[in-house]
Amino acid sequence: MDDRQVQVGDLVRLRKRHPCGGDTWQVTRVGSDIRLRCTICGRYILLRRAVLRRRLKEVRSGKAAPPGRSVD
Ligand SMILES: [Zn+2]
Repeated sequence: MDDRQVQVGDLVRLRKRHPCGGDTWQVTRVGSDIRLRCTICGRYILLRRAVLRRRLKEVRSGKAAPPGRSVD
């Protein structure tokens, strides 16, 4: 899984579950660190890109953005 595809608004699933039981997170900020909000309990976590890349299981686009469009 390539974390360069991750954009603000996307939903991502991680290998490691949050203590609340959720494994789906919404991307709220993309930079050198990625900020995620748990979709179950609403808590925020901050992950470094390298960490996110290892934990990433699935990325679902939160927006109906046309493929190939890059947002930086
Ligand atoms: Zn949670």
